[in-house]
Amino acid sequence: MPLPQQHRFPMQKYHILRSLVEENLLGRVTLESAKLASLSDLELGHSKEYVGKILTGSLTRREVQKMGFPWSDNLVSRARQSVGATLAATQFAKKETVSISLAGGTHHARYEQASGFCLFNDVAIATIRELETNSNSRVLVIDCDVHQGDGTSEILLDYGRAYTLSIHSARNFPHKKANSDCDIELPDGTEDVEYLEKLSNGLRKVKEAFDPSLVFFNAGVDVHENDRLGRLKLSTEGLRQRDAMVYDFARGCLASLVAVMGGGYSSCATQIAELHYQTVAEAYRSWKSVNMDSEKLAK
Ligand SMILES: [Zn+2]
Repeated sequence: MPLPQQHRFPMQKYHILRSLVEENLLGRVTLESAKLASLSDLELGHSKEYVGKILTGSLTRREVQKMGFPWSDNLVSRARQSVGATLAATQFAKKETVSISLAGGTHHARYEQASGFCLFNDVAIATIRELETNSNSRVLVIDCDVHQGDGTSEILLDYGRAYTLSIHSARNFPHKKANSDCDIELPDGTEDVEYLEKLSNGLRKVKEAFDPSLVFFNAGVDVHENDRLGRLKLSTEGLRQRDAMVYDFARGCLASLVAVMGGGYSSCATQIAELHYQTVAEAYRSWKSVNMDSEKLAK
């Protein structure tokens, strides 16, 4: 998934997103900073050797190429903090029903390999920690980023109390797809109506097969029509309806929900941040009628 040089570090969106949340929702939600994930946390989803290589920067040139970023201490800290945010968000969601990481969704990271700008798989790690600490938990991952959640599906493959659904562009990265429990592949140019119908059908299928207590939602906005990498054509309103559909589904299952932001690669950082903010605001709107104090946000 090579990005043009000027888009290699689309990190500005996170700063803008945080500002939007502070400006519009502070006082109504709790915003907290995340800690770095510990070594033992990282090793829940990755091999000890791989974690060691990432932390010390002892990757081969080929491994760095697959990662997509040049290695740096700062990059590793950021990746660890992103996992820490998703872990913290999971704990909040279990108490407060819904919680959002203002980063996260690094779903291409595999058990022993960085891939597609993803070093550590935050959702897979948080899922495994949840399954290991609660024998009654059943965890559903709904991955709506335009790219298949291949790393997550691969890492969670043998976990019977985890279910992975990925709805993604058929022709987009990764070109060798993993096997999720439910994969929905979309043709280039898919628009709102077809997308929402296929997602709805997928969620219905999940509900027949699996009764989740916790839902992770990768809310990547790279399905948007202005995205440079996405290949799909969802409108801003279509995206809002997608988010609302997932939230309604989780509420219908009486499950807690953790949303993570995932990808977004428009040339305008403000526009991407506004789409991510819409996901946050829609969660607030969706749960507000249930409990005004129910949202917690972690960054
Ligand atoms: Zn993506």
